Parts: sequence; structure tokens; C-alpha cells
Amino acid sequence: MPPPETRPLYAFFISGTDTNTGKTVVTAALLRALRTAGLAAQAVKPVQTGISPAETLISPSSDAFAYKEAVADIPPVPALCPAAILHCFTLPASPHLAAAEEGKHLRAARLCHDIRSHWQREKTADLLLLESAGGISAPLNATEDMSDIAAELDIPVVLVCPNRLGSLSHVFRALAALTEKGLIPAGVVMTEAASTDGRPTPARILEDNLEMVRGRLRLACPDRPVPLLALPRLPKGADFWKRAAALLTPLATELGARRRRDAPGLVSRDHAALWHPYASALEPPPLEVASRSRGNRIILENGRELVDGMSSWWAAIHGYNHPRLLEALRRQAGRMPHVMFGGLTHAPAVELAEGLVRRMPEGLKRVFFADSGSVAVEVALKMALQYQQGRGRTRRTRFLAPYGGYHGDTLGAMSVCDPVTGMHSLFADHLPRQIFMERPRCRFDVPFDPACLDEARHILKTRGEEIAAVILEPVVQGAGGMWFYHPDYLRGLAELCAASETLLIFDEIATGFGRTGKFFAAEWAGVSPDILCCGKAMTGGLLTLAATVCTEEVASGICGGGRVFMHGPTFMGNPLACAVALANLGLFEENRWQTLVTGMQEALAQGLAPCRDLPDVADVRVLGAIGVVELRKSVNTAALHGFFVDRGVWIRPFNRLVYLMPPYTSPLEDVVLLCAAVHDAIAGGLHKSAC
Ligand code: PMP
Repeated sequence: MPPPETRPLYAFFISGTDTNTGKTVVTAALLRALRTAGLAAQAVKPVQTGISPAETLISPSSDAFAYKEAVADIPPVPALCPAAILHCFTLPASPHLAAAEEGKHLRAARLCHDIRSHWQREKTADLLLLESAGGISAPLNATEDMSDIAAELDIPVVLVCPNRLGSLSHVFRALAALTEKGLIPAGVVMTEAASTDGRPTPARILEDNLEMVRGRLRLACPDRPVPLLALPRLPKGADFWKRAAALLTPLATELGARRRRDAPGLVSRDHAALWHPYASALEPPPLEVASRSRGNRIILENGRELVDGMSSWWAAIHGYNHPRLLEALRRQAGRMPHVMFGGLTHAPAVELAEGLVRRMPEGLKRVFFADSGSVAVEVALKMALQYQQGRGRTRRTRFLAPYGGYHGDTLGAMSVCDPVTGMHSLFADHLPRQIFMERPRCRFDVPFDPACLDEARHILKTRGEEIAAVILEPVVQGAGGMWFYHPDYLRGLAELCAASETLLIFDEIATGFGRTGKFFAAEWAGVSPDILCCGKAMTGGLLTLAATVCTEEVASGICGGGRVFMHGPTFMGNPLACAVALANLGLFEENRWQTLVTGMQEALAQGLAPCRDLPDVADVRVLGAIGVVELRKSVNTAALHGFFVDRGVWIRPFNRLVYLMPPYTSPLEDVVLLCAAVHDAIAGGLHKSAC
């Protein structure tokens, strides 16, 4: 956890295309230019290699020596040393190796913690110049590199590149490395360098390199011109730093003038222009500005890190920014981000459909891609209607659904949501009239009572001729109450549906992809529906994609006699989303999701158990990676919002429910933290305090 940020970090990351690009000279000269302009700047080397700790500030080979030398003849800033080195390793090698040699392991998060702490300590400093060790992609460890420090701190980067024959390729690669991490170049300095054979680089090449880099920067940052400066070779002499600083003054002026954030006031701009889920446009709910994500953390604009307890509404199951998913996204983006699906097909869609079918309950074989969960539900309802028509049962136009269900916010989906608690009662008069039955009342964790199926049996027997399909969320009713019911209910219901020639639709949009401990919740019952909808976690939380999958029997009922299925969204089978979803399936093949979910189930059960003793708590239940605390009355979401953010956790209660569904990959100590926050909020009465 980072130290509480009493003032926002104002810093720039100075890095290069490689080692020996002249970034220490540029950092030191910028330091001088900034100090000359009256700013209390400090140059900091988070990691210095090739120097023993005793020599950090005195050895001429230490970068700190250059920083100090550059400002030696100008007035000092009281109580602020011009240079600081945070970690120092003796071996002159890449940071990962130099650290390993001393039995240490570098991590971006740890280094950033140290940088932030340093900034809080150096109260007189206005601005830090953080010089990287090696080039922008120099490794910190097996998976992270220098760019991760800038990304984690979310600060702009000044890129220093040697200007010589062959340097363009390095500059373009370095700019691409910044883009990959969502980083913005604050400036590029091209330092004149000799060719590899030692001869001076011809002026024609120096000029052309600058021109080419300028063109690239225009493409990369069309909205804001990125300063591009040339630093010629300067003779070493008494006024070296003065001259170097003078040449870099335009960049220093720009850095000094920039505020840390590109877009201040996002909350008020949001309030003026935007609408949020289930919210008023006039009295908007409390908002945080999220600026980055990583693993199980959401990082706010003010630098605060929140431990995620929501997986962004069931979606980000492997945590945020998963490298394998990002890789799939980038590769497909470079190939073909989108083409229409009418008359065209492509490998990502075909391979994903095949992969999904392999994972589906027995018999589900035909995949129809949709762009959101609600649309997948609409598609399922239309499939059922067209199927019954195709089979000549034209009176079967209604749906049977249990109370407590939730299936989305479009009109058809709304019609099968719980008519009272389903958030849609406003529209009741305008929705198709469906048939509702008692919610599956038998708890997941008690012996099954067959009487739970009596109403379903009665309705299907007496009104079966009106009903095209039964639709429900298997085992877990989500947004309608986070209710876990007995899988035997599904077995019984499937038999009743088969007997009455009614289709059975499972909405696995929330439960699919492992959340309940099975890949699909249907597996708890060993039941195959006729139609299954999935979405949410399908792309691991990166992009919106959903699917409606049906049996061959349903497909041939719809399409027999030359008929077609009447649905076709514009972004159907979007290649980007399909490629990411395919990579997501690949992660399931490889990672230990079942072990992770089982471990989380135990941690949630243990962590939430103390909530049972709180007087306002009606029930505590846990299944797979879902933990629910149900209160006796609706909770005060605004008060809880503030409390949770202050505690460094991201939890969004609704109605009477405070619930957790963290990414499967969350460290268990974070699950403990989330559970403790839920307990303390309720114990402290936050759930009932006035807004
Ligand atoms: N079905 C279920 C079970 C859901 O939980 C949701 C979303 N909360 C939906 C359908 C609708 O999905 P989307 O929000 O992607 O439209």
C-alpha cells in the first residue's frame, strides 16, 4: 500500500532508447535549467548500478555526481540536495542482474513506493526528475521493466535518444513501448552521437533523423505537440552545464509549466456531460477518477490504490491488464480490429466458437455472438420464440421465470427480470407480460426439498401451451439478490421442461467462467439447457462480448425449411473481442483457476464469518469466489462508498447486499483486507448513517 499522499507527486521519468544515450547529461542539464527558472527540482536515480553504496554521491561514475556538478555554480535550494539515489548496486549491469547479485529482487511497485515516500519526505521539492537505469525497456525482473515505473507512477516520460545512423528504429521502438503502457512522451531529446565506427554523423542524417522523429511524434500525439530538441556535442569545459541547460530550457519550461495531470476536474466535467449506471444525471452519485489498473488494483487519479472486490461486475476475473490478454488484443489490433460478420468470417470467431463449444454443457453446439449480456438474452428469447414457431407451436409466446431473477436492461430482458426487485418496475406496463413463479427457495447448502418445484410443475402443466421457454440464472441469482440455491432444483426443472416441450434457457452471464467454482454453474446440477447465454468474464474483463449458444435441435427448429434467424448486430463476432476471449479460454486451460477459486471460497468464508454476529446482518453466504453479506435493510451506498475508498478497497453494495467477488488471482491477504473492510463498515454502522 502506498503511503498516504499528502501532496500529489509531480515528477518526470527521464529514460532512453538504450544505455549510453546521454540521459544523465540531459537529466543534469534539465535540473539546472529548472533550478535556474526558480523551481526546486531534484534529480533522483531510483536504481543506480555499478557503484557501491558508500560512493553514491561522491564517485565520478555515479549519476548523482553529474547532477551535483551541473548545479554546483548556481544558488542552492535551501534544504534540498540536488541529487538522490534510492537503491544502489555494485555490479555494473542491468538492474535485475545487479540486484540479483546482491540477493535482491526489484519490483516496480516497491520502487514506486520508495519514490512516493521520498517525495513526501522531500517537502521542499517542487518537482522530481527520475532517471531510469538503462533504457525504457531495461528489465527490473522477469516480467517488468523501466517503463513499469513510469506507468505505475503515471508520469510523463522524457525520452533521450542518440542521433546517429541507425537510431530511428530504436526511437520508434521506444515510443511504441511508451504507447503500450499508456504513457505520454513529455519530450524527446536527440543527443548528437558518433557513428558506430567513431566518425561524426553527417549533418544530413542528423537533420533527417530529427525530421522523421518529429513526424512520428505528430502521429503518436496529435493533440499536443511534443517538444523535440537536439543536443549537439558540447566541448567539456567550465561552461558545459550552462550551455547544455540553455539548450534544454524550452523543455524545462514546458515541464515546469505542466501540471501533473493532463485532465484536471474530471469529476465536474463528468457531472456536466455523463450519465452513470442506475444513477441520476442531476444529482450524480459520488465518483472516483480511475486512472490505471493492475492486477487486483484500481489506481485512482490521486495516486490512491484500491484493492478490487468487484472484478468490475464479474468481468475482470484474472485481474486487470493481464499480459496475455493485452498481447492478444495488440496482435489482433495490428491485424484486423473489425470486419462485418455478414458474409465474412475469421479465425478468432471460429476458434472461439469451437473453444466455447468444447467448454459448454453437453449438446450446446451453435454459437451466436452478441455484444453484451442483455443482447445475448434478447437473442435467447428470440431463438426460443422462433424455435416454437418453427415447430408449429405458435401459441407459445411467453416466458416463465422465477422471481428474484435478473437478465439485463433491454426491453425483452427486462420483461423476464423480477418484476418487483428487478429495478424495472417503472416499465411494467410497457413490457411483454411474462409468467413468474416462486424463486428457488431451497438454499444451496441445505438438503433439497422437492416441494420447491411444485409451482413450476403446476404452471408448466396448466399453462405449458403458452410458454416458449423457462429462463433463469442457474444456482446463483445475481443482481436480483445474490441468492444461492440448490442444484437439484435445476435437475427437476429440466425434467419438467422436457416433459412439457418447453425450452430451458440458462443465463450464465454472471455465473459463467468459473465464478461459482465450476466453469459453468450448470455443472453443479449436471444439466444441459437448450440455450445458454454467457458474457461478462468471457474476455477476462477487457472488452464487451457475449454469446448465446444453443443445441442443434434448437438451431434446426429455427432454421428448418429454409428459414433464417432474425438477428445480426453490427459488431457481431468483433475480431478484437474474439481474440481476447480466445486468449482468456487459453488462460483457463493453463492456470489454476479452480484452486484459486477454492482458496478464495475458504478465505471469503473465514473473513466474512464474523459478520454473522452483527445485529443488522440477516445472512452471510459464500459460494466459489462470491461472498455475500445480506443486511436486514437497504444500505446507505454513498456512506459506504466513502468508507471503503478511505480503507483502500473497491466494494459497491446495493439494496440490502454488501458483497465481494474479487478477481480469482487476488492475493489472499487482500481478500482478508476486503472482508475486514466489510465487517468494520457494518460494525461501525456506516450502512445506516445518513448521506
Ligand atoms: N444476465 C445476468 C445474469 C447479469 O448479471 C447481467 C448483468 N448484470 C446481464 C444479464 C446483462 O448483461 P450486460 O450488462 O452485459 O448487458
